[in-house]
Amino acid sequence: MLETSEKLFERAQQFIPGGVNSPARAFNSVGGSPVFFKKAKGSILTDVDGKEYIDYVGSWGPMILGHAYEPVIKAVQETAAQSTSFGAPTEIEVKMAELVKQMVPGVDKIRMVNSGTEACMSAIRVARGYTGRDKIIKFEGNYHGHADSFLINAGSGALTLGTPSSPGVTKGTAKDTLTADFNDLNSVKQLLNEYKDEVAAIIVEPVAGNIGCIPPREGFLSGLRELCDAHDTVLIFDEVMTGFRVSKGGAQERYGVSADLVTYGKIIGAGLPVGAFGGKKEVMQVVSPDGPVYQAGTLSGNPLAMAAGYALLSELQENPLHYDELEEKTTYLYTGLQEQFEDHGASVHINRVGSMISVFFTEEQVVDFTTARTTDETLFKHFYHKMLEQGIYLPPSPFESWFLANSLTEEQLDDTIQAAGQSIKSALS
Ligand code: PLP
Repeated sequence: MLETSEKLFERAQQFIPGGVNSPARAFNSVGGSPVFFKKAKGSILTDVDGKEYIDYVGSWGPMILGHAYEPVIKAVQETAAQSTSFGAPTEIEVKMAELVKQMVPGVDKIRMVNSGTEACMSAIRVARGYTGRDKIIKFEGNYHGHADSFLINAGSGALTLGTPSSPGVTKGTAKDTLTADFNDLNSVKQLLNEYKDEVAAIIVEPVAGNIGCIPPREGFLSGLRELCDAHDTVLIFDEVMTGFRVSKGGAQERYGVSADLVTYGKIIGAGLPVGAFGGKKEVMQVVSPDGPVYQAGTLSGNPLAMAAGYALLSELQENPLHYDELEEKTTYLYTGLQEQFEDHGASVHINRVGSMISVFFTEEQVVDFTTARTTDETLFKHFYHKMLEQGIYLPPSPFESWFLANSLTEEQLDDTIQAAGQSIKSALS
């Protein structure tokens, strides 16, 4: 069935580590060969053998309005014809910064980079430069990209592959990353008291998405805000997943909590390689060339990437209805899945925030890393492959969020719910 994908994977493994250019794409946690794709439109992916799938990965987040979204494609084509890069300022970078400020009023200044990793890595440097302190606090299972400081108790591919803390990160770097428990303010308080006046920043995924989707408990984010204020620590929201997804203004708007710095990726580039970090003027003023904290990039603010991101963000800004529709579609899917799993007697907890959703096969409420790990990975694996057979493309790991796109039709959602019923029945037997 995946004949061509399997052949390509064999070739890929000879010359590319693990046959993939990013570990989360490998099927290590579900087994089998990754699917190779050749095209997509809306919510339908077509693999190299011509088989079609309903997509719940959305390139891991960017495709909030579906694949090959016309305004994005048009913007990229028109921009490419004028050159793909200048290494000098362009108008679209200014328009982009202005648009982000309109959508997220707390972002006084923003710097474009090329990935979410770069955004988070730079935000940490800025926080350290601003405070003159070395240590950071992150949360177990949160993922902020693959910069050294973050590969300590990380989520996403690192967790899926069983290496949440990577070899190659020096002890010196590791000692400056302190780890707290997601949704547990006491664990943060303890660290701030133990390392008094040493913590430059707390970085958090405001909705955890890299151990599956885990919403913040009531008061958790505002509690972090208060702790940061009390300890003169910079609060960084890593909104690489949640930015422009859980609402127009991201998690800051959804939960009514302002961060000092915020990082973006995924949607901001509409599927092209983009990240960004921004925030309050007084913090951002330390960034080079205004200030002494160095940060740079040959292709940063690349015209193609800016044109694509600008086209997508403009649509989201002008038509906030997209968020209502996404919310409705995700609730519909949630309810349908819940019914199917109940009918077939599966122990399940489904977490959902906006258009992020995760199915955990466990009897426990999933609120943090430890409870996420109680999910039945073997059951997920069987469920995953049954879904794939029926043309439903989910993230190939129990510890990743699914991302819905507003291109999903009611019929596609119904097909998914039906397929989930069949899949769980067969996985349990
Ligand atoms: N931060 C979060 C919350 C992410 O989910 C990711 C990637 O999935 C990153 C940072 C890293 O972004 P990138 O893969 O673009 O480097």
